[in-house]
Amino acid sequence: MSEPVRVGELLPGVLGEVVDRAGHGYERWAELVAQAGYCHHPIRLAGRVEQADRTTGEVRQVYDSEREPDGVLLKACGTRRESRCPSCAAVYRADAYQLLAAGLKGGKGVPESVAGHPRLFVTFTAPGFGRVHSRKAQGRLVAPCRPYRQGARCPHGNRDGCWHRHDEDDPRLGEPLCPACYDAQAQVLWNALAPELWRRTTIAIHRALGRLVGLQEGELRQLARISYAKVAEFQRRGAIHFHAVIRLDAATDCRCPGCLAPPPQPFSADLLEDALKQAVPAVTVPCPPLDDGGPGRYARWGEQLDVHNITEGDDQTGELSAEQVAGYIAKYATKATESFGSGLDRRLTADDDLDRLDQLPAHVAELVRACWELGGRPELDRLRLRPWHMLGFGGHWSTKSRRYSTTFTVLRRARVQFAKRRRARDGVPLDAWGRPEDDQAVIVVASWVYVGSGYETEGERWLALSAAARARERRRVAWEELATTTASAA
Ligand SMILES: [Zn+2]
Ligand SMILES: [Zn+2]
Ligand SMILES: [Zn+2]
Repeated sequence: MSEPVRVGELLPGVLGEVVDRAGHGYERWAELVAQAGYCHHPIRLAGRVEQADRTTGEVRQVYDSEREPDGVLLKACGTRRESRCPSCAAVYRADAYQLLAAGLKGGKGVPESVAGHPRLFVTFTAPGFGRVHSRKAQGRLVAPCRPYRQGARCPHGNRDGCWHRHDEDDPRLGEPLCPACYDAQAQVLWNALAPELWRRTTIAIHRALGRLVGLQEGELRQLARISYAKVAEFQRRGAIHFHAVIRLDAATDCRCPGCLAPPPQPFSADLLEDALKQAVPAVTVPCPPLDDGGPGRYARWGEQLDVHNITEGDDQTGELSAEQVAGYIAKYATKATESFGSGLDRRLTADDDLDRLDQLPAHVAELVRACWELGGRPELDRLRLRPWHMLGFGGHWSTKSRRYSTTFTVLRRARVQFAKRRRARDGVPLDAWGRPEDDQAVIVVASWVYVGSGYETEGERWLALSAAARARERRRVAWEELATTTASAA
């Protein structure tokens, strides 16, 4: 996302809009921009809020957008995607971090004892669909990509390997050695089946855990529960993979986050790892059969299963700390297909959009074509391969089991309450009658109409993005000051 340009670089028309906005109700407008979290594409709403006293039935107006500049209220777009709105994505990332961290070290209603539960950080990968350029490095030593015999060729006449030692930012990484040898269709089908594969895997882990301690699945569920939080990420080759925190808890009936307890003996991190290693390679999902009569296809995980123990506290044992894991997952929570260029950044549906494929890397364009081609087959209808901007993947980017920790909704609500208290005089929000706010006493009736999305003029947008950049800078300075004070106090 581009930084705002300097005033001197603004087009004359835009400069006029800036002057216009700066001269009319600027302060209140800037306040609305700040309240919308400096969103880059806020939704403009017009409407009013009234409160009705439950006992007397009296109705009083508490808000009317008529009194705002241009008669509109700005509401943050709320996207999680960095490429669409860096401001809202930063909020989402912070929430994702809180949510992840609470499930690892407590807080937000989760007891700190959760840090003592067995928990693992696991990366589930996709299998191979053909050979791709890859970087194999051990420390500073980089090995050749795909060694091969001099003169050896694939059936399509391409060299049968690659002696190159690729740099980390080599654009060839993830591209197939031979596009014709690469099974793009199998890969997009795999992306489409990955959410179901994950669902089956959680069940298989339960069963494997039961087998290891000699219990039926039902008996195990009386004793221990598997909680998880996971995020999906695209690998360079365009296959989805999942990063997950998997935690063992004691089975409890109570659903409040405060009632988490460590599982009884013998449920340990080692046992959980054994269960994963038994369960993961065996899980499969059948692909709906294709009408061309070819062999049945199954989706299964790749051979590489990365399992790391998450340490309690910060001992330097080379294992991962709760903060590292929470930060890692939160980072991916705001990404989608950005690494493949902007061509996949929005939902594409019409046939003629296929012309835009030449803006994409050749391999990605091939995957999009595979989605298009398979998406047109009635027998694959339920996989929803069209629209194809997600390369077949139709799942959620981040998901968690119900008992992992708190929820995004709870975190959002807490933030709204906090902002309300901060704006209210003396920190106590009052109702239309000047009494401390209480849902038991008044009913809130709000009516809104959608006016538009984004800033009304290019000039307003420039002012808002400049304010956003200043706010980011203030936050950065505040963090640095906090860090120096903490360091000098220690
Ligand atoms: Zn936004
Ligand atoms: Zn290579
Ligand atoms: Zn080939």
